[in-house]
Amino acid sequence: MWHVPCQDAGEDTVLWRADNDECKAYFSSAKTWNNLRDKRNEVSWRKVTWFSQAVPRHAFQVWLAFRDRLSTGDRMKNWGIEQCCMLCGEKNETRDHMFFACPFSFTVWLNTAGKLFGNAITPDWNDTVSSLLQQAQTRIDHILRRMAFQTVIYSIWREHNSRRHGGVWG
Ligand SMILES: [Zn+2]
Repeated sequence: MWHVPCQDAGEDTVLWRADNDECKAYFSSAKTWNNLRDKRNEVSWRKVTWFSQAVPRHAFQVWLAFRDRLSTGDRMKNWGIEQCCMLCGEKNETRDHMFFACPFSFTVWLNTAGKLFGNAITPDWNDTVSSLLQQAQTRIDHILRRMAFQTVIYSIWREHNSRRHGGVWG
């Protein structure tokens, strides 16, 4: 509750807004950031993207894929550019086609991660993500599955870009 300022109430003091709009005499950058930031619900795929063993540049690529921010053909269309799948020629190049409905990508995915996933290996993006969210038989399998997923996404996207740019930008 706010009171009209008056002399008897003592000296003015500087306070910082912290948790639940409570004011404190000290400044905490973490609490201030938490107050300012736009809070969103945690996404389930967070654990498939950011984990301690992940290679940062692979994780970033995977984050872009989850957000569907990669410049696949369906997104290029919005910019007036026609682009078929750079890997198999399929007309409709989407994120889900690339990982791993595309016959080229699925072959890479199968050869890399087939043993780790067994019967659960699939060309379907959502099914792949669901099985990555489930606990594997051992902790090491759990980590390896996610690492394989990230490495394959990163490598396929690099291959895709090198074909798109005629190999000039590697
Ligand atoms: Zn393809």
